[in-house]
Amino acid sequence: MATATAYSFFSSPVFVRPYSKSQQYGLRDRKCKPNLGLLMVKAQSNNSYYRSQVREEDIVIVGGGIAGLATAVSLHRLGVGSLVLEQGESLRTGGIALSLYKNGWRVLDAIGVGSDIRTQFIHLQGLTIKSVDGRVLRAFNFKDDDESQEVRAVERGVLLKTLACQLPLKTIRFSSKLTNISRRHIGDDTMLELADGTRLSAKVVIGCEGIGSPIAKWMGFPKPKYVGYCSIRGLGYFPNGHSCQNKMSNINGSGVRAGWFPVSSTKIYWNISFKRDSPGPKISDPDELRKQSKELLRGWPAETLLEIIDHTLDDTIIRAPMADRWLWPGLNPLAYSGRVAVVGDAWHPMTPNLGQGASVALEDSVVLGRKLAHAVKSGSSSSVEEALESYERERWPVVFPLAIKANLLGAVLQTRNPIVGYFRDNIFTPRLNPQSMFKHTNFDVQPLGLHTKQ
Ligand SMILES: Cc1cc2nc3c(=O)[nH]c(=O)nc-3n(C[C@H](O)[C@H](O)[C@H](O)COP(=O)(O)OP(=O)(O)OC[C@H]3O[C@@H](n4cnc5c(N)ncnc54)[C@H](O)[C@@H]3O)c2cc1C
Repeated sequence: MATATAYSFFSSPVFVRPYSKSQQYGLRDRKCKPNLGLLMVKAQSNNSYYRSQVREEDIVIVGGGIAGLATAVSLHRLGVGSLVLEQGESLRTGGIALSLYKNGWRVLDAIGVGSDIRTQFIHLQGLTIKSVDGRVLRAFNFKDDDESQEVRAVERGVLLKTLACQLPLKTIRFSSKLTNISRRHIGDDTMLELADGTRLSAKVVIGCEGIGSPIAKWMGFPKPKYVGYCSIRGLGYFPNGHSCQNKMSNINGSGVRAGWFPVSSTKIYWNISFKRDSPGPKISDPDELRKQSKELLRGWPAETLLEIIDHTLDDTIIRAPMADRWLWPGLNPLAYSGRVAVVGDAWHPMTPNLGQGASVALEDSVVLGRKLAHAVKSGSSSSVEEALESYERERWPVVFPLAIKANLLGAVLQTRNPIVGYFRDNIFTPRLNPQSMFKHTNFDVQPLGLHTKQ
């Protein structure tokens, strides 16, 4: 079992948590009853101790989304503690779902939560793509060419809660918005300043704050770029059950496309993407969004989707501009600087055309978690830096082409050009090969043992 004294690089006694019965910070492993654990971690955010002085921390993860929590769980399973700072008052438990492919499921299995989550969501069998005149352009089963493929949509809130419940108490600090970051002269540590005035000095910082990451900005990354279309998405709720087939359905139009798939026996996820020269004003009125969605579908063979839109609850309908960032070598910074690294959307925001953002954020988390845990246990600051460098070296060749692939696919799917549209519907789509289409989901990972040396 890991002990605090075994690792000399981090002096703080909270760093490598021994998980003994006498856990001084109230750490304990537990099966989280829904909400109970979250209420307990939520209570910490008002601790005046944090505000009064610079608190020394070892690993600080900024952002309690998918990447942040999965990184914290990966480290925890390898016997290494961390502090997660989340700007929200609680986890984002609201509404929307996202699709996870086999790479995402393999990570969730490796960190011990796959089976808990899997049982709550429908196993999607395949994909049907139609044109606006109702023609089936392509239909296939996910397992036709790859028996190991697994596709399910999960509710973000369920995924986050399940991850959070794996963490020791007091790992997540809510209402903790990072507002400023600077390099400290002492030991090359990093100073983090929060909106409530708290100052933390951290030996390692992992930026997981999503697409608007202040840490990525501080590291010199350019702003994500708007790609010319927006998306309205929502979650249709059918309390008495629905009769939607267990597959993804897409319709391609001119400058507009739509898709839907069941998430569970009572919920169906849907989205409509439409071209727009600029992101436009922020619209959050659910009635207005429903109205816009229906207008976009006028004249389409989309009765099912119209019904799902009518069943969408107000707090699950969202409109967002689509953006990404291409990580050109030499033009963009690396994913790490000293002992600060970025993970998930904070590093490589990509368009959702391949449904891969969350799955690759999970991949990043487990790769970084394993390397960092190993380096920490070796006990030197240079090995931590080497671990971050090795993380960048392993992940960049995966995430850079994937962001480009997602972007180019989106450009073709979203086209208004009739010639490109003709090729898309008559040449490209009918010849889609699932095996090459989902090649990027071939990610393998060994289970991360709980509290064992790896
Ligand atoms: C329309 C749309 C559809 C999508 N569909 C899919 C899909 O089907 N499948 C899929 O895999 N992916 C999908 N994605 C992408 C997916 O949502 C992201 O890739 C994924 O959420 C990235 O996780 P993350 O943890 O890196 O970032 P986020 O999920 O954005 O989490 C960031 C966290 O950091 C917190 N935070 C932000 N700033 C600060 C700060 N200053 N201080 C402290 N905390 C902060 C936020 O509150 C949040 O909790 C979609 C995205 C969009 C926009």
